[in-house]
Amino acid sequence: MATKFLTKEKMGVEQVEPALTPPLERPTLPQKPKLGTSKSRKRDIPEGLWTKCPTCSTMIFDKELDENLKVCLKCGHHFPIGSRERIHSLVETCSFEEMDANMASVDVLGFKGVATYKSKLEAYRKSTTLKDAVVTGICKIGPHRVALGVMDFGFLGGSMGSVVGEKLTRLIERGTEGRLPVIIISTSGGARMYEGMFSLMQMAKTSAALAYHAQQRLPYLSVLTHPTTAGVMASYATLGDLILAEPKAMIGFAGPRVIKDTTQAELPPGFQTAEFLLDHGLIDAIVPRKEMKERLIEYLHYVTAGKKD
Ligand SMILES: [Zn+2]
Repeated sequence: MATKFLTKEKMGVEQVEPALTPPLERPTLPQKPKLGTSKSRKRDIPEGLWTKCPTCSTMIFDKELDENLKVCLKCGHHFPIGSRERIHSLVETCSFEEMDANMASVDVLGFKGVATYKSKLEAYRKSTTLKDAVVTGICKIGPHRVALGVMDFGFLGGSMGSVVGEKLTRLIERGTEGRLPVIIISTSGGARMYEGMFSLMQMAKTSAALAYHAQQRLPYLSVLTHPTTAGVMASYATLGDLILAEPKAMIGFAGPRVIKDTTQAELPPGFQTAEFLLDHGLIDAIVPRKEMKERLIEYLHYVTAGKKD
């Protein structure tokens, strides 16, 4: 019974009794490695050296991809390619004389949205080192002197503003004056909303210039690459004497969802692809990127044959 009364408290030992194991401030559990610091094999591969093909999931060495004109070596998927690389792949060395290289867009409307047009232009000029979404010039492809315009999707989605329209119009007019065939390689999301009506007017301007070119019985070849849509598709892209396309390119006016909602009809499989449009007669041939130069030379032979003789 005595123990009942002889508590530690009564004996005055509670305060002095030392703790056997002094509690540490934090338990020393093994720390989980932070995400992103683990040294897995995947992490050891330096970034920017490999690209995964979205079609066949193959990891492709970037240098090999560049050497293959940005076409997957395994399945032939066509990656987007910049305007300068494309020009390099098509024209004879040192034959490209660029036109209007310093023409740059102006923010006519004082456009303010999530970002201002000015800030967008500045950002894209920095990231692409281009002044706008098209590069134009006179060059030689094989033995043929041609007026060549190449669009770049990397600059504001290849959208057509006043500068794209003006540069292409001047190119076509130069082609008409010099009696040269015109080739335009398109890729575009359509008219540039930041310029409102001014961008829509480019559709009429470029089409009119092409009409004068055609009146002189000069050939115009249009090449459609992934994606070519909207205002560009509704103007110069579809006015070619010959219309070529890269394999599996998405080509159309409005997007498939808009069409489906408007027509309330199921869209056929492969709708708005280059292959579908070839079957339905809108385009004349599908040409893989690696054969493009050779085929353009061949077509230029046909369409200029009468003039040479
Ligand atoms: Zn692939």
